[in-house]
Amino acid sequence: MTAPAYDDGNIFARILRGEIPSHRVYEDEATVAFMDVMPQGPGHLLVVPKAASRNLLDADPAVLAGLLPVVQKLARAAKAAFAADGVTVLQFNEGAAGQTVFHLHIHVIPRHEGVPLVAHSGAMEKPEVLAENAAKVRAALAAL
Ligand code: 5GP
Repeated sequence: MTAPAYDDGNIFARILRGEIPSHRVYEDEATVAFMDVMPQGPGHLLVVPKAASRNLLDADPAVLAGLLPVVQKLARAAKAAFAADGVTVLQFNEGAAGQTVFHLHIHVIPRHEGVPLVAHSGAMEKPEVLAENAAKVRAALAAL
């Protein structure tokens, strides 16, 4: 079945336009990163290209080529910020695969030995905790 067209009313498009708030940790000409409001672990980030696409399947390869180095940078910062043992990088394509927001994004989740991931799109985190975690990531980015 053909996927629906990109809809610029999706929540990440609205965050990118500044219509709704987010805890931003990074921005360049092509990419923004902010805290996931329903983190699967402390420090869960979303790395979001500014260019419009639903997901990996309809994205411009040039956008994808620019995206992975930013994911790497944020994965390194998140690992340092949370003294993590590892980092899980996830990306879902269409509802059947678990995607819930239809603007391409990459999940970056710091991980500690023996600590399982919280459920995807589970509980909302407190804004003050998200703000504190965002500050940790910004500090780690500055120290890279
Ligand atoms: P997906 O299932 O599409 O890969 O993931 C979407 C992610 O966006 C989920 O992890 C969910 O917690 C997160 N999310 C949903 N709504 C918002 C929001 O309004 N702001 C932020 N920062 N994250 C959101």
